[in-house]
Amino acid sequence: MADAQMAEAETFAFQAEINQLLSLIINTFYSNKEIFLRELISNSSDALDKIRFESLTDKSKLDAQPELFSRIVPDKVNKTLSIVDSGIGMTKADLVNNLGTIARSGTKEFMEALQAGADVSMIGQFGVGFYSAYLVAEKVIVTTKHNDDEQYIWESQAGGSFTVTRDVEGEQLGRGTKITLFLKEDQLEYLEERKIKELVKKHSEFISYPIYLWTEKTTEKEISDDEDDEPKKEEEGDVEEVDEEKEKDKGKKKKIKEVSHEWQLINKQKPIWLRKPEEITKDEYASFYKSLTNDWEDHLAVKHFSVEGQLEFKAILFVPKRAPFDLFDTRKKMNNIKLYVRRVFIMDNCEEIIPEYLSFVKGVVDSDDLPLNISREMLQQNKILKVIRKNLVKKCIEMFNEIAENKDDYNKFYEAFSKNLKLGIHEDSQNRSKLADLLRYYSTKSGDELTSLKDYVTRMKEGQKDIYYITGESKKAVENSPFLERLKKKGYEVIYMVDAIDEYAVGQLKEYEGKKLVSATKEGLKLDDETEEEKKKKEEKKQSFESLCKVIKDVLGDRVEKVVISDRIVDSPCVLVTGEYGWTANMERIMKAQALRDSSMGSYMSSKKTMEINPDNGIMEELRKRAEVDKNDKSVKDLVLLLFETALLTSGFSLDDPNTFASRIHRMLKLGLSIDDEEGGEDTDMPALEEEGTEESKMEEVD
Ligand code: ADP
Repeated sequence: MADAQMAEAETFAFQAEINQLLSLIINTFYSNKEIFLRELISNSSDALDKIRFESLTDKSKLDAQPELFSRIVPDKVNKTLSIVDSGIGMTKADLVNNLGTIARSGTKEFMEALQAGADVSMIGQFGVGFYSAYLVAEKVIVTTKHNDDEQYIWESQAGGSFTVTRDVEGEQLGRGTKITLFLKEDQLEYLEERKIKELVKKHSEFISYPIYLWTEKTTEKEISDDEDDEPKKEEEGDVEEVDEEKEKDKGKKKKIKEVSHEWQLINKQKPIWLRKPEEITKDEYASFYKSLTNDWEDHLAVKHFSVEGQLEFKAILFVPKRAPFDLFDTRKKMNNIKLYVRRVFIMDNCEEIIPEYLSFVKGVVDSDDLPLNISREMLQQNKILKVIRKNLVKKCIEMFNEIAENKDDYNKFYEAFSKNLKLGIHEDSQNRSKLADLLRYYSTKSGDELTSLKDYVTRMKEGQKDIYYITGESKKAVENSPFLERLKKKGYEVIYMVDAIDEYAVGQLKEYEGKKLVSATKEGLKLDDETEEEKKKKEEKKQSFESLCKVIKDVLGDRVEKVVISDRIVDSPCVLVTGEYGWTANMERIMKAQALRDSSMGSYMSSKKTMEINPDNGIMEELRKRAEVDKNDKSVKDLVLLLFETALLTSGFSLDDPNTFASRIHRMLKLGLSIDDEEGGEDTDMPALEEEGTEESKMEEVD
């Protein structure tokens, strides 16, 4: 009587939401069915984690089954796929509660997400991964044995109910759970060895317990008749003899096919991040890196670390040798950090785990603290994740500094990822100064090598307070700029910032090691180490050139804000500088190139130019004299316009009307060559002003 009772099946109704979920899973078409295996293996891994954890304080917990494993058994005859683990198992109460009667909070959310178009592969994040079994199975049997209870069988074909039966006669598990899927007719591919191996490799490669697959091996063997009754190979499983006799010339030999079965370990790699860094070879890191990224080349750098304390995680970060071709493709959200929670892969596109500017860093993070069933929405708010992110950034910067110890490596790195560092300077105010250490530039004194700001500072002249830089389109375009004349003469080093993103980065950086970064092309460049005598001389000059400045301003009108005596040029007659807070000429060029930008910003930010003139330059002296005689002297006007246009070019701006400029030059040439205009249309000394009207309106469009 007692026995009969024990073996009797008890029927339970699925909780309403679970029931709904099951019909959704069964009746909706999802192409991504393969994820069921990942979910079940992940559950096994959890169960193994739990018993492993319990055994830490009580070794005897492992007695019933000392080995910790997952096993996958495809059975083509019965069309079943079983996933067996020696994990913690479930008591009868667990079975009833966990697999059907108590809904997880995620159940409803997951259904809502599914209806809103979420992918079924997210199921695990909602804590209902087990039910993904019904993506491929019409019936599921769960046999389970917990240390604290007898072995039980859970069985259901969905349809509203499940049964639980005490398992008296079945094969005893010792401890653990066996989930048997009775596959739907159209899902039999999951019985194929190749398919299972592929899935395990794809989704569960880094499960930290061995996953074995029950495999079938057929070997063809040639034996002579007298060897026939040699002892069979000792292997688990059965050996069949397939009759395939053939007469051979060489004598009496026959071929037999032997079918044998064995457990094949299919996740060979223990998670590499769990191992001690000092025990991992460079090759091992490289092959892990390649399997992670599909890169064909080795990594450039690796950082393997663990963080302990109130929060624990392990991580391996890699820097590739090359930038991917779509590094800054904004259509593609990039994130190359795979997030694991206790060895179970969670997601590889968690945006919160690393800032965008570090999106080129690849690797894995394995957190001990995040809940396994964490959803993307939860991750956004998650404090643990914020701490992980902060640590990852710190470690990345450390890794970059390690790369910097080798010049060749760093050049490679810098060529590939300098834009990312600069983006970081722009965006990451917390790490700005650390990132600034990683910047490298050519400068007036760096020769063929790049220099760091740190090295620049060591070379600063006595009395030099600021760090000087010039922005422009290329090294070539800036190295002979008139803006550098005075700075060079004083022996001050000037950094060439010739990457478009430099403009943005330096705009945020502002200073390095307490030294202001000063643009050589903007207002406010003060090189104040003049002697009293120099000051006096300058003041005199200023007075004598005051009226010329006024004349020039009158000629140029709105093209310039003001005209002043320059402190920064030595040889050139004049330059056009921009306001300290406005765009530089280079920035104006960059912004013009961005065709789709909002044009209202342009008029607001676009450079207000100040013309700085050089009183020591012969041309200026001559102009001054002429203007003194007659401030309406036509040749003065023409020369001033020509000087302005030339200064636009040497100062890094573009000419909006090159033709007018060219014809002005041509007239000057004729004047120099003393040729009369053969066409007789225009005369040489004064034509420019006639074009003034049209030209001016064009200029205004620019400003
Ligand atoms: P989750 O694993 O996210 O909690 P599931 O729906 O996958 O959600 O599983 C529900 C519960 O069933 C688990 O929390 C666990 O308690 C139990 N369970 C599932 N699979 C196993 C297993 N292989 N061994 C032990 N318990 C399991």
